[in-house]
Amino acid sequence: MTPYGSNSNESRMMAGTRRSGGMRWWVLILAAGYLGYYYLSNRQEASFTGRKQLVETTVEQDVALGLQAYRDILSGERGNIVTEGETPEMVRDIAQRLVAAGPKVEALLKQSNGVGADTPWDQFEWAVSVIESDQANAFCLPGGKMAVYTGILPVAQNQDALAAVMGHEIAHAILRHGAERMAHQKLTQIGTVAAGVATSDMDPQRQQMVMAAIGAGAKFGYMLPFSREHESEADYVGLMLAAGACFDPNESIGLWERMGATGGQRPPEFMSTHPSGETRIQNLQSWMADAEKVRAALCEQTF
Ligand SMILES: [Zn+2]
Repeated sequence: MTPYGSNSNESRMMAGTRRSGGMRWWVLILAAGYLGYYYLSNRQEASFTGRKQLVETTVEQDVALGLQAYRDILSGERGNIVTEGETPEMVRDIAQRLVAAGPKVEALLKQSNGVGADTPWDQFEWAVSVIESDQANAFCLPGGKMAVYTGILPVAQNQDALAAVMGHEIAHAILRHGAERMAHQKLTQIGTVAAGVATSDMDPQRQQMVMAAIGAGAKFGYMLPFSREHESEADYVGLMLAAGACFDPNESIGLWERMGATGGQRPPEFMSTHPSGETRIQNLQSWMADAEKVRAALCEQTF
């Protein structure tokens, strides 16, 4: 494919009077063919849920990318990282329990619903840091590097609720949501470049309209719906992980209620991408009986 700047001038000169301002359909057809090929050759099954997802990279690549981002974030927070004391001990303990429960919960759910690819557990490299901050936030990067900001502790109020937050974040990593988002961004980029070439003979205003429509289509057609899907999937798997690690899954309800109340001017990631806290709580309630079953099956104590 020719870079579209020079190509458009060239063809204008060659075509002379034929500056129709139309669409170059062959470019779109080629691009659609390539996108279709990309889609079909990179589609795989998500673990836990069995949802078909578009992922091009491996977990090892997730780990490498995540580690790079993690180092950048931590070096920006130098001086705020808490390594000793009760809080980091508690946070490390929760993370360890959630990760250890992962394979057991996965096997148990697979027994009952029979779906989902096998998570390559040994490829993840888990670690967690505690960052002193007013932010009520936590994250788990692709590949398994986590952080908990101390601002979330007063919102969580107890270990079970903190386990719900961390389970949710860990679920994003296990389900490869970051890698999926990268694949979607690549599709959008290819589509945008192709559309740019295809419309390069149009007058600039029309071209702008077409490009804006494509951008909006990508955003509302799949970027936003997928980010909601990711949130809901992470809620489900996170709840099961917390229950399987013998935390009280019911505490997740109060947590998300308190999250809704403290949204503030810097909403954490899990609030900003989700349409409604009520939907989230309804979903959690509908999964609670299953979560209790997971807890009963994997935990010795009776509840
Ligand atoms: Zn999330």
